[in-house]
Amino acid sequence: MRVPYNRPAVTGREIDFIREALETRHLSGDGPFSKRCEAWLEARIGGTARLTHSCTAALEMAAILADVGPGDEVIMPSFTFVSTANAFVLRGATPVFIDIRPDTLNIDPALIEAAITPRTKVIVAVHYAGVCAEMDAIQNIADRHGLMIIEDAAQALLSSYFDRPAGSLSTISCFSFHETKNLVSGEGGAILINDPKLVERADIIREKGTNRTAFRKRTVDKYTWVDIGSSYLPAEIIAAHLWAQFEAGDDTTTMRMNIWNRYHQGFQSAELKECVVRPTVPQHCSHNGHIYYLLLKSKIARDGLIVSLAEDGILAPFHYIPLHSAPAGLRYGRTSGELVHTDATSDRLIRLPLFRDLGDDQEIVIDRVLSHIGSA
Ligand SMILES: *Cc1c(COP(=O)(O)O)cnc(C)c1O
Repeated sequence: MRVPYNRPAVTGREIDFIREALETRHLSGDGPFSKRCEAWLEARIGGTARLTHSCTAALEMAAILADVGPGDEVIMPSFTFVSTANAFVLRGATPVFIDIRPDTLNIDPALIEAAITPRTKVIVAVHYAGVCAEMDAIQNIADRHGLMIIEDAAQALLSSYFDRPAGSLSTISCFSFHETKNLVSGEGGAILINDPKLVERADIIREKGTNRTAFRKRTVDKYTWVDIGSSYLPAEIIAAHLWAQFEAGDDTTTMRMNIWNRYHQGFQSAELKECVVRPTVPQHCSHNGHIYYLLLKSKIARDGLIVSLAEDGILAPFHYIPLHSAPAGLRYGRTSGELVHTDATSDRLIRLPLFRDLGDDQEIVIDRVLSHIGSA
């Protein structure tokens, strides 16, 4: 038996759309499939959407748009993917890492104010496992201190917070379509801009620092170098794959939620017996079934479970190594306060296989986990 952690979903129409993209002979970015994907994102979330070749690229664009530079500080959780911090470090800014809430594993708004200095420019909220961070509290602090909020919504496509879509809850949000996410194009991402004043510059940054977009719309008569930028567009073949995934987006999300809910029910009694802690989803958050994780009692228990499941042929990985204590985190960032929940979560968390066609293998996973943690 062999159960992988992730198997990217194929929804059926990917090949047809890729063939169509090839036949139109529009192979570079911003062709018909890119436009369709962007319109879909705007319809589902709002704002102005632009596809990028990764969420990392979208975060790098966001950091340029936020105008941060050497000496500026960006408050973010340490319990996140490296790109959240790297994007700002590339601008010369300093990530200031704060702790997460032990329940949702998202940035703890109660710790933000203590981390603010005269150099603070941005707060980055990461929606871990597709469950939104406490955006009202974060917005309140940002408003009082004149700070920009950026959402790292890499995991939160089609999630919502008080019925507002993830990605619409800040000035700029970033999504990922990497093959490990819910809807995928291999590598892929999008930036979503909720402040119309930033759209023109976003287009310039995305097009190598040129005003090519304005030229194509014929609002300028020559296309020239006007700002810093890079090449952040995906090719049309990528967008064609993504469009097949978007068309099946609600379907995929429903299937993932069913799997998530089955795990949650399957481990209810184990939680009552205090063998594990299950994920917390606040009432006002609706999520997308991106990750099902369990928190074990200790690192030893967690590591042991990973090994035991591997012996059963089940791949169940841990997750983030905290950024604040990583070599680059120590070099480029600093911490504010103690990061006890970050460290404890990193030590105790295990992620269970979750993908669209997991099927009956899920029952084997639940059975094996319950048996290994002594809750069968
Ligand atoms: C996956 C992920 C990213 C990076 O996405 P890429 O598309 O691979 O660049 C960034 N932040 C978070 C929170 C992620 O989960």
